[in-house]
Amino acid sequence: MIPYGRHEITDEDILAVNRVLKSDFLVQGPEVESFEKQIADYCNAKFAIAANSATSALHLSYLALGVGPGDLVWTSPITFVATSNTALLCGADVDFVDIDPETFNMSADLLAEKLVAVKAAGGRLPKVVTPVHMAGLSCDMKAIHALSKEYGFRIVEDASHCIGASYMGKPVGNCDYSDICVFSFHPVKIITTGEGGLTTTNDAELAQRIGMLRSHGISRDEELMTHPSDGPWYYQQHLLGLNYRMTELQGALGKSQLARLDDIIAERHRLAERYDVFLADMPVKLPFRPDGIRSSFHLYIIRVDTEKCTNSHRRIFEMLREKGLGVQLHYIPVHTQPYYERLGFKKGDFPLSEAYYSCAISIPLFPTLGDERQDEVIAILKEVLV
Ligand SMILES: *Cc1c(COP(=O)(O)O)cnc(C)c1O
Repeated sequence: MIPYGRHEITDEDILAVNRVLKSDFLVQGPEVESFEKQIADYCNAKFAIAANSATSALHLSYLALGVGPGDLVWTSPITFVATSNTALLCGADVDFVDIDPETFNMSADLLAEKLVAVKAAGGRLPKVVTPVHMAGLSCDMKAIHALSKEYGFRIVEDASHCIGASYMGKPVGNCDYSDICVFSFHPVKIITTGEGGLTTTNDAELAQRIGMLRSHGISRDEELMTHPSDGPWYYQQHLLGLNYRMTELQGALGKSQLARLDDIIAERHRLAERYDVFLADMPVKLPFRPDGIRSSFHLYIIRVDTEKCTNSHRRIFEMLREKGLGVQLHYIPVHTQPYYERLGFKKGDFPLSEAYYSCAISIPLFPTLGDERQDEVIAILKEVLV
């Protein structure tokens, strides 16, 4: 089986993790701290706060922004369920904005329309909007940021797919157009720490809150203490937090992987460009490349033109699996999940997302795929897409 994505672990990665196992710290120590510093530098953000997953990082972001009961968070239906689940876990309500059919990202135009409509009807405006950079392609952040100023919402970027990508020539994660940006280091993502996630922000207060919330809401900072310290053992709990800390093993692996990030992105682009060439004549739509936005190419998503194909989208997907391609579909529109249906969403609510779902397939793309295996993938696609 050729999977749609796969991590790469080098001998250096293994050495880095082994060194940590013999060191004094296993959790939240110098490796995590320098990993955070390196990501902040890479992204040109003031602060980076690591966590044990992007799901945790999203939860921390919403908690730090004060999202709670009575608040509303808007995101895209084409995302992993974690983006909206973590808002629900804060007690907030969730709603969605349909996608731009070319980029599969939240449409800034539809966001504007929905804001106008809600305001005109005297409805509840979102406290937070979470654009998701699908497949590694940044959303139209300038437009979304402009709307945030007009309508007073905060922005959390779900950049789980997107480390190493850029928007208008600047790295995603710099938070020029958002309050917080979240990355994932799950093994299928661009770089991995096993499980792992991270937030970047330029806001010192948010950074401090996220840092405390990831470790039970506790701080040893004397400046924050409500009275002079009781002694050297003393700490205070200021917020209601959790244990979302990253281990030193993860931090060391992340640093080792981060050192190769630009090479990883370059190889993903090289392979994506080969697909662009070799799939050009097939009955599929290929990824769109908007001006000024450079994808990380976390995923290479094709859309089957079912009018031109003998087989249905589902049959094509099944045949690809039968022939040894570990294709995947990112994602099942979140609002159609039974849990969300129980909240009142239903099929038909976000037709552009549902249309995307009826034709999308993620085909294999990862830095160790190589030309030969990619040629196999292309040959199988040629057989099946008739
Ligand atoms: C992977 C992913 C997440 C969750 O990341 P974890 O690190 O696995 O918790 C959230 N949002 C999106 C868009 C993702 O792809």
